[in-house]
Amino acid sequence: MYIISACLCGVNCKYSGKNNLNDRCMKLFREGKAVLVCPEQLGGLPTPRNPVELNNTASEVINGNGKAISNQGEDVTKQFLDGAYETLKIARELGATRAILKEGSPSCGSNFVYDGTFTGNKIKGKGITAQLLEDEGMLVFSDEDLEVSNDKLVYLSEFDREKAKKRKLFEQGEEEYEEEYYDLTENLTDMSDLPPTVEENVKKLMISLARDLMGFEETDEIAEATGLSIEEVEEILDEE
Ligand code: SF4
Repeated sequence: MYIISACLCGVNCKYSGKNNLNDRCMKLFREGKAVLVCPEQLGGLPTPRNPVELNNTASEVINGNGKAISNQGEDVTKQFLDGAYETLKIARELGATRAILKEGSPSCGSNFVYDGTFTGNKIKGKGITAQLLEDEGMLVFSDEDLEVSNDKLVYLSEFDREKAKKRKLFEQGEEEYEEEYYDLTENLTDMSDLPPTVEENVKKLMISLARDLMGFEETDEIAEATGLSIEEVEEILDEE
């Protein structure tokens, strides 16, 4: 089960009253593999609301050494922390071990956030909910990890096509069929340039998608679908 930022599945919970619809997240949700949360709403903030940035790292804010402040100067640290802990409570109730959260958000960002000056400047860092879920042992992915354009995931492969045909999972026409599939195997060639922690995260995400989107369960099938070795897949699955 995944925890997914509600705005990624079309819920109009963004500060602006809009959403960040992502088809791949929506697919997981429609298949009953995800529960949607909006930490900022769970913390009691209204929608629409003023945009917020953190004035310290998420870890420091969680430890009481920083604040979440709106562009009007309101201190909404308590609501941000409440929302993060409510999200954690939901994840624990569900036994969820993975989350896909909206990149860049002061609650949900997992690779970058804005620098607290409201000037659009991005810095490396996490949102408060993303940090708390990671601290508690969950695997946190960004919606941007799912984007085709970032070369980490590429649509389609002969392998997927043949595998699905063999399993007789789908009967629709080729065109429609092609829209449905990921090729996870082509990611590995680009990994040499990635920092080790990012590479590890991408491998975990590939395995996760091979299981949850493509339906592979056996270690050798997951290895074939992702292009990882059986040993690598076993090692990562053992860690979970
Ligand atoms: S708090 Fe998270 S789920 Fe809610 S709108 Fe912001 S990014 Fe989306």
